[in-house]
Amino acid sequence: MKQPILECRNISFSYHSLKCETKALNHISFQVHQGEFIAIVGPSGCGKSTLLSIIAGLLKPEEGEVVLDHANDMRIGYMLQQDHLLEWRSIWKNVLLGPEITKTMSPAKEALAERLLKDYGLYRFKDKKPGELSGGMKQRAALIRTMVMEPALLLLDEPFSALDYQTRLMVSADIGSIIRKSGITAVLITHDLAEAISLADRILVMTKRPATIKEEIPIHLTVAENSPLAARSAPEFNNLFTFLWKEISDEYSGENS
Ligand code: ADP
Ligand code: MG
Repeated sequence: MKQPILECRNISFSYHSLKCETKALNHISFQVHQGEFIAIVGPSGCGKSTLLSIIAGLLKPEEGEVVLDHANDMRIGYMLQQDHLLEWRSIWKNVLLGPEITKTMSPAKEALAERLLKDYGLYRFKDKKPGELSGGMKQRAALIRTMVMEPALLLLDEPFSALDYQTRLMVSADIGSIIRKSGITAVLITHDLAEAISLADRILVMTKRPATIKEEIPIHLTVAENSPLAARSAPEFNNLFTFLWKEISDEYSGENS
């Protein structure tokens, strides 16, 4: 089997304060291969964002290690729930923020930004400020800003959860297709089970805190058209949804008793 692009080996992590210790992750291990789209679901507060921060190198695991495929000059892109666009900059200046900060601006980067803006229908808004765009468009601009850095691995932490339901359906399908077409490897955290099934090749289900991996579910849907919206009407969809729903509900049961 090919070398994984990302491997989490036996990762454990706790937050410490003067008063207490909060154990968030407990011996997490999994691999992600080139071009895969992984979704991670689990009860809220179980440690999903913590895990993503560890993969991104923002937090250091207490135990275990994150192994990245450095042979391919692994760049990591990180996209969060809030778009974090800078209101005083135009969309054009926002999407080119990364090259500007890292002093890697070049005509090639500008050409890439232009192409991505055109591909994703935002080019004519390039001189607008973020506040003049809809929520979905801003989230797309945030994705372009991440893609301009040409990451090999994209980490997405509930990137659609600030959007209303209609927009969320459209934008998640839209962004899912963009990521697929670009061949970027992606790890998506979501609490939306339908979103996970429609976008991912594989779903990791986490237990409640301290999180362990409870299940790894490969997703193979029978669909005529390979799109996240079509995936929602696949014959396997309902059974998968019910199964995931039960897995996660089981984690909450007993909490209030
Ligand atoms: P999730 O993303 O799955 O909702 P998080 O990874 O954000 O969960 O948090 C996991 C647990 O760690 C939660 O109980 C949360 O309250 C706690 N936690 C998160 N960040 C901190 C922090 N900086 N200090 C202390 N505890 C934290
Ligand atoms: Mg979170």
